[in-house]
Amino acid sequence: MIDYLREIISGTWSLFVGLGITIRYFFQPVVTVQYPYETLPMTPRFRGHIELVKDEETGETKCIVCGMCQKACPSNCITVNGEKREGVKGKVLTEYTLDFTKCSLCGLCVESCTPKAITFSKDYNLAGVRKEAYIFDLKKRLEAKN
Ligand code: SF4
Ligand code: SF4
Repeated sequence: MIDYLREIISGTWSLFVGLGITIRYFFQPVVTVQYPYETLPMTPRFRGHIELVKDEETGETKCIVCGMCQKACPSNCITVNGEKREGVKGKVLTEYTLDFTKCSLCGLCVESCTPKAITFSKDYNLAGVRKEAYIFDLKKRLEAKN
C-alpha cells in the first residue's frame, strides 16, 4: 500500500515538473520558423554557389572576361566566354557557366576576380533530381534579376 501511494505521489510530481517546463517554454520567444513559408536571413559568411555581381551604375555585369576565375578553379567548374564588339572597350561577356556539381566552394574564383564581379550567393535550398539542374547559366540568372 505504501509503495502504491509512493508511486502515485512520484507520478503526480513528475507530471507537474513536466507541465512546469512546458509552461516556461510557452512564454519564451519562438526560435523556430515555419520553413518553407518563412526563412531566416543567411549569415554574411555563408557560401552558396557563385553568382555574377551587377554593376549598379550600368545594370550590367562587372565581368571583364579576363578568365582568371576559370584558371583559378581547381575543379574546372567555370566556363567563361566573351567577344569583341565594335565601339565597346574590352570584351563583352557572352557566356558564364558554372558546373555546381563539381564545385567545392573553395572560393579561389572569388579571390582571383579583381573587379569583384563574382560573389557567393545565399541560395541554400537548391533541389533537383538531375545533374543538369546544377549547371547554372550565371549570365542568364543575372539578366533575370534585372
Ligand atoms: S575573374 Fe572576374 S572579371 Fe575575370 S572572367 Fe572571372 S568573373 Fe569575369
Ligand atoms: S568556389 Fe572553388 S571549386 Fe567552386 S567554382 Fe569557385 S574555384 Fe571552382
